[in-house]
Amino acid sequence: MNFCSECGDKVSLKIPEGDTHLRHVCDGCETIHYVNPKIITGSLPISGDRVLLCKRAIEPRYGLWTLPAGFMENEETVAEGAARETQEEAHAEVSDLQLYTVTSVPSVSQVHVFMKGDLVDDSYSAGEESLEVELFTEDEIPWDDIAFSAVKSTLKHYFEDRKTGVFPVHTTDIRHR
Ligand SMILES: [Zn+2]
Repeated sequence: MNFCSECGDKVSLKIPEGDTHLRHVCDGCETIHYVNPKIITGSLPISGDRVLLCKRAIEPRYGLWTLPAGFMENEETVAEGAARETQEEAHAEVSDLQLYTVTSVPSVSQVHVFMKGDLVDDSYSAGEESLEVELFTEDEIPWDDIAFSAVKSTLKHYFEDRKTGVFPVHTTDIRHR
């Protein structure tokens, strides 16, 4: 950030009095512009023993596979965002969405939230941001071509939990990418 969105004056990085972090502070109106982590919301769509993955048609990680997910929008819930991203990227509908994994990635100031849900029917196709959309069993998953650590970790938890049929919420911190 270079200029204040309130008054257009220049901003400087400083620690405001009583604060602990560097902030962009306006030289003119002294507004403190807080920047906080972004939430990525997505789904783990399940159909029998298979999960739905999308091959990315956009950077970053073009051509690698991911679960349908994206930046949460203002004025929506986590579940609404997950369902929206699933519709946009895979033209698929998920039901009974349940919180499943929460992954903090502090190096990029992101929190990835995945909700587990049932694919309503086997109707899906590639959306604008996908090259392909496919269902995979555990053995078929292209483990070396998964786009993001949070996605890989969510998939690993899922296939591990399937053995017991119990799906607790997993909280994971990824320190390195
Ligand atoms: Zn200002």
